[in-house]
Amino acid sequence: MILVTGGAGFIGSNFVLDWVSAVGEPVVNLDKLTYAGNLENLRSLQGDGRHQFVQGDIGDGALVESLLARHRPRAILNFAAESHVDRSIHAPGTFIETNVVGTFRLLEAVRAYWGALQGAEREAFRFLHVSTDEVYGSLGPRDPAFTEQHRYEPNSPYSASKAASDHLVRAYHHTYGLPVLTTNCSNNYGPYHFPEKLIPLMIVNALAGKPLPVYGDGQQVRDWLYVGDHCSAIRRVLEAGRTGETYNVGGWNEKANLDVVRTVCALLDELKPRAGGGSYGEQVTFVKDRPGHDRRYAIDARRLERELGWKPAETFETGLRKTVQWYLANTAWVEHVQSGAYREWIATQYASA
Ligand code: NAD
Repeated sequence: MILVTGGAGFIGSNFVLDWVSAVGEPVVNLDKLTYAGNLENLRSLQGDGRHQFVQGDIGDGALVESLLARHRPRAILNFAAESHVDRSIHAPGTFIETNVVGTFRLLEAVRAYWGALQGAEREAFRFLHVSTDEVYGSLGPRDPAFTEQHRYEPNSPYSASKAASDHLVRAYHHTYGLPVLTTNCSNNYGPYHFPEKLIPLMIVNALAGKPLPVYGDGQQVRDWLYVGDHCSAIRRVLEAGRTGETYNVGGWNEKANLDVVRTVCALLDELKPRAGGGSYGEQVTFVKDRPGHDRRYAIDARRLERELGWKPAETFETGLRKTVQWYLANTAWVEHVQSGAYREWIATQYASA
């Protein structure tokens, strides 16, 4: 049994689906169901005894303690977070509450649980914290990619709150000996991505005939990784990572935002030509840049490849094609997410614990 937090979000739900099919071990999924949590992502696991959902907050120590005592997980994977940079600029408070205070409360409950374990159970236990490359700050055009040794220089309230959580996780290892693992991953894309983030927003807006808003000059560079590859990396780190260590996860796919948008448009032009003719690229509109917008992130994932033998299965081209195809085939999911209809559906399917 493993405990996943934030397993109704974009990466967490992909991970739960991947875990149940690849490993088959039961999962307890603790998620607060903020605007970003969507149980419809896990609809295919309905009635499958290997997935148990609990609605709740990682910062609720009593709830977490009771879950740990009841289910006795061999590992905890922490995906729960406030994750959208733009939201962190407008309302940083919830980022501090969940990403910093919530992680701290979760760590406290885990420390007490792990402290009481004995023998092989204690030896095997792992706490894996899922984090981001944004903690490292911004790179110049010719700087080498971030390695695990790069110093933390977070620039947004989001990345600062994630950096703080990474430091707490590290401190619980060094101070209390908690067997932790941290992964710092680049930008993910793929199915079930909430349409406020770049790639799904562009797909959804393009199909709706709306403008495709690109910040500033669109030359901000990000590394992109298909979400399924992130899931396989997390499984590998959980299985074989050295406790107390951090592992960078990335796809060696550095792309300027404008190029990503143009590639999405080209795929849509091919897979679902615009009703009135022309290209979806004509809908691109440049908008005022985000304050403090980091110019470039690039991740050096060689350690994970060298030490644990992990490699991404998808290239940017194959992963993006799969993603666009998924959104074209799942328009009902998009409509439900946008209208909030899935919340009504959830109310009929699940009782909160
Ligand atoms: P997401 O916003 O899609 O999902 C977050 C999930 O956490 C939601 O289901 C939400 O309901 C839940 N949640 C929020 N606050 C909670 C709380 N207090 N208690 C319990 N559950 C809570 O985020 P995501 O994109 O799936 O990211 C998951 C993790 O991966 C985050 O920690 C994020 O920092 C990290 N990460 C994301 C990316 C990316 O590109 N999306 C890249 C690298 C790392």
